[in-house]
Amino acid sequence: MSAVGSAENPLRVAIVGSGPAGFYTVSNFLKHKDLHVEMDMFDRLPTPFGLVRAGVAPDHQKDKSVMRAYDKSAASPNFRFYGNVEYGSDITMADLQEHYHQIMFTTGAPFDRDLDIPGEDLTGSHSATEFVAWYNGHPDFASRSFDLSQENVAIVGIGNVAMDVARILCKTYDELAETDMADYALEALKRSKVKNVYLLGRRGPAQAAFTPPEIKEMGELVDADVTVRSDEAKLDAASLEAMEAEADKNVEKNVAYINEYSERELTGKSRLLTIRFLVSPTEVIGRDGQVCAIRMVKNEAYQSEDGAVRARATDVFEDLPVGLLFRSVGYRGVALPEIPFHESWGTILNDQGRVQNSDGSQVTGLYTAGWIKRGPSGVIGTNKTCAQETVNCMVEDLGKGTHLNPEHTDPQAMETLLQTRKPNYLSWTDWKTLDEIEHSKGEAAGRPRVKFTSVREMLAATGKG
Ligand code: NAP
Repeated sequence: MSAVGSAENPLRVAIVGSGPAGFYTVSNFLKHKDLHVEMDMFDRLPTPFGLVRAGVAPDHQKDKSVMRAYDKSAASPNFRFYGNVEYGSDITMADLQEHYHQIMFTTGAPFDRDLDIPGEDLTGSHSATEFVAWYNGHPDFASRSFDLSQENVAIVGIGNVAMDVARILCKTYDELAETDMADYALEALKRSKVKNVYLLGRRGPAQAAFTPPEIKEMGELVDADVTVRSDEAKLDAASLEAMEAEADKNVEKNVAYINEYSERELTGKSRLLTIRFLVSPTEVIGRDGQVCAIRMVKNEAYQSEDGAVRARATDVFEDLPVGLLFRSVGYRGVALPEIPFHESWGTILNDQGRVQNSDGSQVTGLYTAGWIKRGPSGVIGTNKTCAQETVNCMVEDLGKGTHLNPEHTDPQAMETLLQTRKPNYLSWTDWKTLDEIEHSKGEAAGRPRVKFTSVREMLAATGKG
């Protein structure tokens, strides 16, 4: 038999998860011109692109332009897409091992982290991930509802997801109507009574997780003022010392924006966004089972032994009246069947993308990239280098003969299996049909696209219902 990766015996790779890390796996493999590789990508949703479709804010269409590059990768004759096929139920590890030499898991981090404080489960307390998935039309979240009749809303955390949520709550209907936000969310936000949005950071402006373009945008909202308390904008001694020791352009820019917002006059816009620093929620207070306030403790900053500026609680408390609460303190990966997992990190056990057993030995043929490999951090492009690192390991292992030895190497075999196991899977052509419908509806409405938000409708539109 010819070597695996030759024209006669192509390397067969399964990719589970069709977000950025999945597509960068494809483009990285395609750069290896001497390697003959056939790639099959699986996603539990009928649609591809993971968080680019269901996470990136609808008013940040530029960030979604990466889909054009993913389209190019998908145009390769050696690429196939199987949407509406879930790993663990529709296909198993044994199925993949029987059909592929190497299996890549790029399933992301779909859940959220808790605050672990009393009252977190009260009605009106949600995760930002739920809200983001809802307004982006993720089919699993389309039926959620959020009480937007509340005037006061708090968002815990000051990363870029928190910025997205705050911006969506502060934008006008006209601004949102230009986006590809789900229709039901657009309608709900049209009726929104939200007036005050609070972003709550547990550390100071110099440790904020948002990035300069995102915090700059907060100062440019059409009908929302932005403000910061001057005592909280002022840098503490530990932050000043850390900034002096290590110059960081992003930190300097963030601090400058916050400083500017603390000096701004309010102009009487309909909404007010208040960014707070050095406060930690300690309890969500309820009335009749519904959130009515959040109790916060004032923190003080200190430099820890590792040099990082951290926050510790003082004995000063404050209750902030809010009727709606979003926790936005990071995404969390979930374990996949039959794959070693690090529970507290929420990542697949791996070394540079090679899946490992708990004793550190390599699991032959299994690999990972993206948030499920390294945790939920970085921008879309970070997944490019992350996938490249893993693909390099895959190519290196192939050279060493370390790969699975699948029973079925005929590409038709997986197709045949799915036709019995999950006949209503969607191919790339099916996805392009949905894509075209969404675009043409969007064009008619002066929007980038009008999204399908139900699996049933997606299947019906592609004749797979
Ligand atoms: P993130 O950047 O890790 O931010 C998490 C925030 O939660 C931080 O402010 C963190 O504060 C805070 N936090 C964590 N635990 C907390 C607790 N117990 N109490 C109070 N605050 C707590 O996470 P993210 O916002 O979910 O974003 C995930 C990744 O996606 C990031 O890399 C982000 O840049 C990226 N993203 C990018 C864009 C964009 O480019 N426009 C948009 C969305 C997301 P500490 O810093 O004190 O831990």
